[in-house]
Amino acid sequence: MAGKDELDDCDIIKQGMMVKRSQNKKRFMPINYKQRWFVLTTKNFIYYESESDRKKERGRIKLSSITIIETATITPSPSILSQQDATNNESENGYAFQISYSDINEPQYTLYLITQKLQERTDWLQSLRTVCVDNMGKSERYHLSIWGGKKWQCCRAPSRNSEGCEPCSEWNETPPNSPVIKNGNNNSPVLSLTTVNQIMPGNTPTAKLKDQVPRIKVVTALYPFKAIEPGDLTLVKGCEYEVIDDSQDHWWKVRDEHGAIGYIPSNYVKEKELLGLQKYEWYVGDMSRQRAESLLKQEDKEGCFVVRNSSTKGLYTLSLFTKVPHSHVKHYHIKQNSRGDFFLSEKHCCSTIPELINYHRHNSGGLASRLKTSPCDRPVPATAGLSHDKWEIDPAELMLLEELGSGQFGVVRHGKWKGSIDTAVKMMKEGTMSEDDFIEEAKVMTKLQHQNLVQLYGVCSKHRPIYIVTEYMRHGSLLNYLRRHENSLGGNNGLLLDMCIQVCKGMAYLERHNYIHRDLAARNCLVGSENVVKVADFGLARYVLDDQYTSSGGTKFPIKWAPPEVLNYTRFSSKSDVWAYGVLMWEIFTCGKMPYGRLKNTEVVDRVQRGIILEKPKMCFKEVYEVMRKCWSHCPEDRPSFRVLKDQLATVSQGLLAD
Ligand code: AMP
Repeated sequence: MAGKDELDDCDIIKQGMMVKRSQNKKRFMPINYKQRWFVLTTKNFIYYESESDRKKERGRIKLSSITIIETATITPSPSILSQQDATNNESENGYAFQISYSDINEPQYTLYLITQKLQERTDWLQSLRTVCVDNMGKSERYHLSIWGGKKWQCCRAPSRNSEGCEPCSEWNETPPNSPVIKNGNNNSPVLSLTTVNQIMPGNTPTAKLKDQVPRIKVVTALYPFKAIEPGDLTLVKGCEYEVIDDSQDHWWKVRDEHGAIGYIPSNYVKEKELLGLQKYEWYVGDMSRQRAESLLKQEDKEGCFVVRNSSTKGLYTLSLFTKVPHSHVKHYHIKQNSRGDFFLSEKHCCSTIPELINYHRHNSGGLASRLKTSPCDRPVPATAGLSHDKWEIDPAELMLLEELGSGQFGVVRHGKWKGSIDTAVKMMKEGTMSEDDFIEEAKVMTKLQHQNLVQLYGVCSKHRPIYIVTEYMRHGSLLNYLRRHENSLGGNNGLLLDMCIQVCKGMAYLERHNYIHRDLAARNCLVGSENVVKVADFGLARYVLDDQYTSSGGTKFPIKWAPPEVLNYTRFSSKSDVWAYGVLMWEIFTCGKMPYGRLKNTEVVDRVQRGIILEKPKMCFKEVYEVMRKCWSHCPEDRPSFRVLKDQLATVSQGLLAD
């Protein structure tokens, strides 16, 4: 257990009554169930004797010590809920979940909790996973059921310390999922095990999982999708679909309400019961203050608003555009009082955020304006490939439009695939890359998908020159964008830091997938609408044939972005990407200046070897420069990972800029 901090009501993310199963710390302590008032704050998960008596704190768990947040199956069920003989029916007895945590010098403990409604459990899981997303010690596996004294009731493993039998859910980009049976290629729906007891009274955890009667997985479309290739299915925003096959990460087979079956991009849908705020037009998720401002200013409509995730995890901010007394955007934190109600101004509280938004549609209630519209037709995300299992693209399907630029490999043109999807087409100059190796690799690269990586759609490899087809980014290279907009961007630490954070998120994804970029620089990032920045050309450097580019002595080698171990031994790693990332931050904060000015490559090498680093850009906060300096540690091991950098930048942003 963590030391006790004062509980500040403003930090409360969620609270409510739940039944808690004793933690069973002592071996022979009888199992008991107690109703407790639970409060999730930004740092702790605390429980009290009752809602009204906050003095009687019964325990608290430090969020950073949490390792498992999963559903659970508990038998026998607690009679405290049913007030009858215990049955094993979840819908009668409540919905269980588990939280494991371990503090230094203490073994892992598990707290079992039971909610009365399924939705409550889903909400608690989602809130807890959101606040714990960056925990270091997250477990890989967990036990679905409880320790029965001699064996685990789920897998019958005889040791209490045996590794879990189920893989843990993802806590980050993807929503918290229930363990789902990945289906094969038949046309029956995908089934989830977590709610099995709802429809199968009398189920026991000792029953083999495969024998259980599962439920159907239903998803809601967050974006429209037009089926172009045979075998794909059109998605209508807001409509529901039954999932038939989710065995692949990016393309799922689903059935629509008319019985039509086909593939859809999995990032366009979300499981119905996990939808949360995402079904509302006005909710934009992770959008920084700066990007929300530019989006709303672009709309230029009185009362136009969005709700976005606040920089403090689990909290939300309302951003509202008003023309009174002049065009500007106001930001309001959505707070919760001690009863759990949401409010913008304390006089008007509502039990849910949608109700609160509805209230302020009719009453300004202290806001700068009544809430009127939200920006419509926001850009839809890129799909991993243009269709299910497609990475080879027929050039006849590509209409080539204007030239976007030219680089190392040749000309890049704007293209329309099948008259409908914008693409960028890189026409590879013959002899510049080892084509066969790259074509093989392209299959893997189309599967890398993140909102801050330029999506690779596929290749046209059957003719020469080969084309690399990627997502189209309307504002082109970040380097040119910075130089073109120096007047508006210069000194705007918020916007510049937001660009750095976006690149860092894309790089953290690559790092997690053990993918090394090898040529990270502002020229290799691209800018899309709403100031979105994405990393491009990751991994491409490996297939370049030009010695001048690949050897550290070559004239085209990116010396100014290279750390000592690359200059000395051509040793690339995610940590050499981190060094380059520091230089990229420097490029961003100087609005596209050339690092080391006009120094010759040999002079740069000499400086780097002697530990002389780039100077602090004018107007750049010293806290931001400190982060750059960490990226330029001489030893790769001393540089932070992208995952750590992401947190450090978020902390800097929270400390220096308004949320
Ligand atoms: P590259 O060969 O990747 O250096 O690209 C050359 C230029 O083409 C860049 O500087 C951009 O201006 C433009 N470009 C490359 N890829 C894209 C893309 N996906 N979307 C828009 N413009 C692009």
